[in-house]
Amino acid sequence: MEKLSENALRILQERYLLKGKDGSFQESPEEMFRRVAHAIAKAETKWGGEEESKSWEASFFEMMSNLYFLPNSPTLMNAGTGRGQLSACFVLPVEDSLEGIFETLKQAALVHQNGGGTGFNFSRLRPAGDRLNTYGGFASGPISFIKLYDFATEQVKQGGRRRGANMGILNVNHPDILEFIKLRVNGKPLQNFNLSVGITDDFMEAVLLDKEWDLMHPNSGRAIRTVGARLIWEEILNNAWESGNPGLIFLDTINRSNPIIQLGKIQATNPCGEVPLMDYESCNLGSINLSKFVKEKELDWGLLSETVHKAVRFLDNVIEVNNYPSSNIEQATKGNRKIGLGVMGWAEMLIQLETPYDSEEAEDMAKNIMKFIQEESFLASSKLAEERGNFDNWNKSVYYPDQKMRNATRTSIAPTGTISILANTSSSIEPLFGLAFQRRKVLNGQNLTSINDFFIKKLKEKGLFFQEILDLISIDGSCLKIKELPDKFKSVFKTALEIDPKWHLKHQIAFQQFTENAVSKTVNLPSSAGLEDISEIYKLAWEWKAKGITVFRNDTGREQVLYKGIKE
Ligand code: ADP
Repeated sequence: MEKLSENALRILQERYLLKGKDGSFQESPEEMFRRVAHAIAKAETKWGGEEESKSWEASFFEMMSNLYFLPNSPTLMNAGTGRGQLSACFVLPVEDSLEGIFETLKQAALVHQNGGGTGFNFSRLRPAGDRLNTYGGFASGPISFIKLYDFATEQVKQGGRRRGANMGILNVNHPDILEFIKLRVNGKPLQNFNLSVGITDDFMEAVLLDKEWDLMHPNSGRAIRTVGARLIWEEILNNAWESGNPGLIFLDTINRSNPIIQLGKIQATNPCGEVPLMDYESCNLGSINLSKFVKEKELDWGLLSETVHKAVRFLDNVIEVNNYPSSNIEQATKGNRKIGLGVMGWAEMLIQLETPYDSEEAEDMAKNIMKFIQEESFLASSKLAEERGNFDNWNKSVYYPDQKMRNATRTSIAPTGTISILANTSSSIEPLFGLAFQRRKVLNGQNLTSINDFFIKKLKEKGLFFQEILDLISIDGSCLKIKELPDKFKSVFKTALEIDPKWHLKHQIAFQQFTENAVSKTVNLPSSAGLEDISEIYKLAWEWKAKGITVFRNDTGREQVLYKGIKE
């Protein structure tokens, strides 16, 4: 078992390890990994004997405890405890009826209670002010129900471990779109929602050509108002500049690669955007820690392939042993059996290979690695289909009839916000945020500080390990101004805000090209960035076939989680 970092231990103790009523720990981190491995390997007994189950249990334990692969937080927290679901991602329908709205709110509360996040598209709701049929009066519209969902989320703490997360989507042709766009900036901002505008190709074309744009009534499909497409676009930019919200999700791009389009179009994603899902579908994620796969400055492809195959099996098993919050969710999830295998530690892998993040070499490497993971996970899932059968809706999917497949999708790049701390590596495909940085208020309001281990290691390797250098990076987390360090060295340690936003996007696209689901990525912008910069990134994201896009402008005075430097 790999030694865990101090930050990892603190997080595990605070939120993951099982505790008795008196607050005493009932397991060690090693026992936690054993609990999870045992619970997930149990699924094997459905097809094989106890022997097989035991052997997979050992293999899953090794993969997690070596920090090669970790499943999403709910699996670590809940597997083997007899309570709670194991998936992080859900999409629920919002029907245009009071009953539907409150039924979904109930299901969302149950999902949040156990550590999952929910995404909703509110576009089926009639606009505010619309007349109601049965009892007369006027509809309060999607905005008011988003606020209601936000308030409810606030009240349901997830077993004291994390507050729920939501994605709220409104399509760009909904009559209430302009109010929606301002929702994170106006008045009391929403605490528990990411917002995205559901964008279509024809809207983007209308923006480029400066055309008029129809806002349609969701029930009749008739245009009830017409505004300039650019007016909507500019409102989006203004608010994204100020608050990072709304982001965009590109519905046509998503549906062009929807593997079971026969079942209908996908309209929403989970909270961080990496999994587009149909109503009631859930998806469980897991991430491979790439920083562990560099041996002697070379990538260990054999070990990577082996880990991908095990991880796919692990995630398919999760679907089998999961406790579903409702039968609707169970049915939809088992129908398609989507899983989302992704990566973390990408930046730390590049550092070990001494490749700058903002280089074509890194972009090519991103494509090669993700292509490999995609191909191997495809093989792993089709092998599983031979053993266990195809997913139920297979005969309506793009794989029918030639390709056996156990899981309708296999890959997804999640943010790995917490599991990357557990694995002590850089999150997802993000560059290092700072060489020294703070995560504020993550543990009961406390801060976690980190100095990057690879930075220290490389300083030592090059004979440059001096206290003065550590003091300097402690101030602002950056090494670019330190004269004693060679340029080549510095280029490898550029941090998120020192990397041009286009390079952020290029990495997102490179990974997206080989990912069936989506990529969660924050394009960091300096505080000096203007509306034009956001406009360019948003347009390029659409042109380059991203499935969604989010930007974050640094130091805007709003609450943020990550801060460069570790001096208070
Ligand atoms: P982790 O590292 O904890 O496994 P990620 O940061 O990779 O999680 O997020 C993956 C997904 O988990 C998100 O897209 C979202 O669907 C869900 N999620 C993340 N944070 C929360 C939260 N605080 N509450 C509910 N769901 C969450």
